[in-house]
Amino acid sequence: MNRPIRTEFTETKLHVPWESIVHLTGGTETHHYLNEEGGIESHTTVHLQPMHCGHLAPAGGTCSQCYRTSCPQCFTACLLCHCPLGPCCFRTIHTANDEELFFCAACYGKVKRRKLFRSLISGFIRFG
Ligand SMILES: [Zn+2]
Ligand SMILES: [Zn+2]
Ligand SMILES: [Zn+2]
Repeated sequence: MNRPIRTEFTETKLHVPWESIVHLTGGTETHHYLNEEGGIESHTTVHLQPMHCGHLAPAGGTCSQCYRTSCPQCFTACLLCHCPLGPCCFRTIHTANDEELFFCAACYGKVKRRKLFRSLISGFIRFG
């Protein structure tokens, strides 16, 4: 293959709003070549970047605690303060009927300390 006559790159980047952090989540690379018949051939490579959870992009969100990015299936928010959380940082509490409730570390501590837990759980059982 000859030297490409033109090369194009695209990058997909995620910007963390709270910090000046940018996550590269993917990109494409296209090389254009002249072939023997004088036509143009294009070869594209798609670069996939796994999210922190191990799944592939698209991203579901960026964790408010550690700024890691996870996919939509793994991403959640704290039940009490609604801060965005990835699987890297959420704490879970299981209800009696096996629902999972997600909390940030601070709210998890609060729930445990103030014995909010019981009222929260019974609320979820009644309305869930
Ligand atoms: Zn995931
Ligand atoms: Zn919270
Ligand atoms: Zn995190």
